[in-house]
Amino acid sequence: MTNCLFCRIVAGEIPANKVYEDNQLIGFWDIAPKAPVHVLLIPKQHVSSLYHMDDSNQGLIQAMIGAAPVLAKQLGLSDGFRLIANTGEACGQTVHHVHFHILGNFTDSGDTGFPA
Ligand code: AMP
Ligand code: ZN
Repeated sequence: MTNCLFCRIVAGEIPANKVYEDNQLIGFWDIAPKAPVHVLLIPKQHVSSLYHMDDSNQGLIQAMIGAAPVLAKQLGLSDGFRLIANTGEACGQTVHHVHFHILGNFTDSGDTGFPA
């Protein structure tokens, strides 16, 4: 999808500060971090949102869930992390290419970066 921001990052047309890559996924720093550690984990394949995942995407969902704690640990989040997938504009999705936010190292214990 040439008009999709994250597809353009996957294609290398828009730079991103990558922290993870495997055959299905990439991870990179969020451009507007809401926590000291805030990265995005996305599939290389374009899927608009979790609503658009179906049986053919089961392997992809498994890969994303499996990679999240691996990446969190690589980023030093040994005490825990938050995994968020805003789905639909009504709930804050602004980029319509499915992605997990991985957040951690919150300095203020009351501030988790998103409403709970
Ligand atoms: P969401 O609002 O859940 O769709 O999340 C989209 C996220 O993408 C936001 O946290 C943005 O800060 C982030 N973002 C937008 N453009 C870029 C970019 N070029 N590189 C990295 N992150 C981005
Ligand atoms: Zn896309």
